[in-house]
Amino acid sequence: MQVDYLIIGQGICGTFLSHELHQAGKKILVIDESQPFSSTKVASGVINPVTGRQVSTTWMAEELMSFTWQAYTHIGNTIGSNIIQNCGILAFPPSQQMREAYDGKMNDTPAFIHPVAATTVQEYIPLFHFFHGAVHIQPAYHIDLHTLLKGWRHQLLTQNSLLEESFDATLLQLHHDRVIYKDIQAEKIIFCNGTNTFQHPLWQKLPYSLNKGEALIADIPDLPPNQIYKFGITTLVPWYDGLWWVGSTYDNRFEDALPTEIFLKKKSAELASLVKCPYTIVDHIASIRPATVERRPFVGFHPQQPAAGIFNGMGTKGCSLAPYFAHQLAQHLTQNTPTTPAADVKRFGSLLSLS
Ligand SMILES: Cc1cc2nc3c(=O)[nH]c(=O)nc-3n(C[C@H](O)[C@H](O)[C@H](O)COP(=O)(O)OP(=O)(O)OC[C@H]3O[C@@H](n4cnc5c(N)ncnc54)[C@H](O)[C@@H]3O)c2cc1C
Repeated sequence: MQVDYLIIGQGICGTFLSHELHQAGKKILVIDESQPFSSTKVASGVINPVTGRQVSTTWMAEELMSFTWQAYTHIGNTIGSNIIQNCGILAFPPSQQMREAYDGKMNDTPAFIHPVAATTVQEYIPLFHFFHGAVHIQPAYHIDLHTLLKGWRHQLLTQNSLLEESFDATLLQLHHDRVIYKDIQAEKIIFCNGTNTFQHPLWQKLPYSLNKGEALIADIPDLPPNQIYKFGITTLVPWYDGLWWVGSTYDNRFEDALPTEIFLKKKSAELASLVKCPYTIVDHIASIRPATVERRPFVGFHPQQPAAGIFNGMGTKGCSLAPYFAHQLAQHLTQNTPTTPAADVKRFGSLLSLS
């Protein structure tokens, strides 16, 4: 079988990259083993333009907010589902200091923080314990990641462009101008296989910094849906079947990718201190984020092996970064346009060239 591009992994990175290249008229083949707890499957799917105690605007927020809206609407049309919602985030500052940080950002341009009417705040008194009012983060998007993955996977299968199996790196033959894998020949291979990418000798030297995150899944029937609720680092996000995703953590030190007893105890206690209405915890999930030391993605080709590419390192921001940089990488491949220098893996050219 002869294809233009062989893509390993169909998380959010492989999904958007294969979609972009397919739209550009390229022949692609995706290999994905469908890990049940991949980062994309465990993620809450929030695109929040502000972050941290200083309520700073995230990297490239303005550009990414408008780009992602269009990108998800477009891929949603391709798979026949609406997968993006501008539901905003109702943020309850956990301290007076945080309240002041939010208030201080209300007059910024662009304005992502807005006041909440006193009558709206009152409506939440029977539902939550909170002491410093609420603010609204808007726009903020919620992505239906499971529908996206399933919908695009179905399209790939229909186009005979998906192999549902584990990629075995020992069978890969890399040449300067092509790659061979089993009976497949491709112009290039692009590694989109999340944390596993960094086990490959080509990419091991990159400064990645894997980061584990866990979440509880709770049934909170009285909570108004179609809204994200934020209490410091704890966020309540609409999940599937009317349930709520409650997370998360950012652990650089972890033994494995499994849910931990420590998180279960800590988050359960936190939930009890936040939520006044009845709820039940029904599940507990965990995954590892493919994060990087600099918190910028790895996009582009290996300096010594130009037929091998990487599209990875989205960290905590896969939902906003993957669509934008998939478009850039596809344009680079089809029109030779440059990649944003802060994301281009070329910045680690000397590290990658060390033998
Ligand atoms: C708890 C948690 C919450 C998060 N919340 C958010 C959020 O709200 N917003 C946000 O923007 N980001 C969030 N993230 C981060 C986001 O999930 C990641 O940035 C993103 O999903 C990474 O996508 P990926 O495609 O690189 O990797 P993955 O999603 O891990 O996909 C990799 C794919 O490769 C496949 N694969 C791996 N190895 C092989 C192999 N050898 N052969 C074949 N296939 C293989 C897997 O099956 C998988 O489908 C969260 C992450 C976690 C853990």
